[in-house]
Amino acid sequence: MSENCIFCKIVNKEIPSELIYEDEKLIVFKDIRPQAPVHLLIVPRKHIRSINDLKPEDHAIAGDMLIAAQKIAKLVGVDKNGYKLNFHVEKGGGQEVFHLHMHLVGGWEK
Ligand code: 5GP
Ligand code: ZN
Repeated sequence: MSENCIFCKIVNKEIPSELIYEDEKLIVFKDIRPQAPVHLLIVPRKHIRSINDLKPEDHAIAGDMLIAAQKIAKLVGVDKNGYKLNFHVEKGGGQEVFHLHMHLVGGWEK
């Protein structure tokens, strides 16, 4: 938990989100400003600032995020048509929230 981190607050249910999935490692919720018909954020419970702060011992978290993406894509029905998984890394990469997360975007017409 990092103070004043919006995603830590969402993880801890201190502020609401449109939750799609959660388990002991991560949560998945709808992006508040969707850029596509489906725009979800896959967020580890552990506060990690950005991809730049991932440590070798976090490798399971990184893997869990990809496995969750595969599962959630199927759950929300974008797996067959296709989707994008994006990481924004640091300010120059467009990162606005400094708690590691992966965007899952899709749901466009074929
Ligand atoms: P990034 O840091 O990768 O650029 O993106 C952060 C994303 O978090 C943005 O797409 C933004 O719309 C989303 N976001 C920021 N604050 C909130 C919030 O309080 N709730 C939800 N559901 N999404 C948020
Ligand atoms: Zn955080």
